[in-house]
Amino acid sequence: RPRVLSGIQPTSGSFHLGNYLGAVRQWVDLQKDNDAFYMVVDLHAITVPQDPATLRENTRVSAAQLLGAGLDPDHCTLFVQSHVPEHAQLAWVMNCLTGFGEASRMTQFKDKSSRYGAEGTTVGLFTYPILQIADILLYQADAVPVGEDQRQHVEITRDIAERFNTRYGRTLTVPKPYILKETAKIQDLQDPAVKMSKSASSPKGLVSLLDDPKASAKKFKSAVTDTGTVVSYDEEGKPGVSNLLRVHSALSGQSVEQLVAHFEGKMYGALKTELAELFTEWVTPFQERTRLFLDDPAELDRVLAIGAEKAREVASVTLETVYDRIGFLPAA
Ligand code: ATP
Ligand code: MG
Repeated sequence: RPRVLSGIQPTSGSFHLGNYLGAVRQWVDLQKDNDAFYMVVDLHAITVPQDPATLRENTRVSAAQLLGAGLDPDHCTLFVQSHVPEHAQLAWVMNCLTGFGEASRMTQFKDKSSRYGAEGTTVGLFTYPILQIADILLYQADAVPVGEDQRQHVEITRDIAERFNTRYGRTLTVPKPYILKETAKIQDLQDPAVKMSKSASSPKGLVSLLDDPKASAKKFKSAVTDTGTVVSYDEEGKPGVSNLLRVHSALSGQSVEQLVAHFEGKMYGALKTELAELFTEWVTPFQERTRLFLDDPAELDRVLAIGAEKAREVASVTLETVYDRIGFLPAA
């Protein structure tokens, strides 16, 4: 069975709608026919400042949301990145295979570092994509289900895997990004020019999955739309309306063409109201399921412990092979 691997940061307590539609929903689908590994990437989270107690709590809340969204520990391996030390170990090797110039071209680093300034930006934030290379290659993943913003990081992973294989002989699987066009980039409701983001969106632009659904409904209703009144799909001319149409389509299962026909003669407000209802219908049971896992931390920790053990079985084999290929002396 093909392998898939992906991760999500516990940088805030709640996931947002972009995380779900762009990534997590595909994780749930892919667990059926793939050997799937999914993790809460706490090592990535500390590339920006974190309060220790909050990070620990957010890690549990993140795992609970993944289960609430439909990950089934009997059908996938769910774990916390720091429980598998091989990630940090392989990352060092990958650091030594990646060019400084190559790493400097990562646009997400440029975006994020501009927020923290030269002194506030950690070296960890710079090498974050290289840790991600290790995350993916450790599991010999064939596909990596992510949002559009992660495409460049999967591309560099491919380059480094090929470099390793050329230099040391075929060892690592070269992964492909798995990005669904329709939901790859959910935009901020207040600024449709930028992606919805845990760390960069304004509260009004961000639809957090654990918020009171009534508050989220309000955000849909006050979403920035475009001049004009006709509901039509035009990413350039009507980025706000187009974003809402894509979200509606993802939640309702209707195509954008069907929706445009459905809203003919109606105003933007009708689209927003329907969207608020659709979202509430989906998110209410999601929150209930997530709550069940949060109310039973012992069970949650048990699931994560089993996941870490299964993950280590695969990760340790890859790391051992890599260490051998690059010429490290085996420990006696
Ligand atoms: P941060 O702003 O802290 O980087 P984030 O919102 O980007 O947080 P991540 O944990 O970095 O969240 O990303 C988890 C997954 O969600 C990744 O696969 C990423 O590509 C995807 N994703 C994030 N934002 C969006 C979005 N707006 N639309 C679609 N997918 C997204
Ligand atoms: Mg991100």
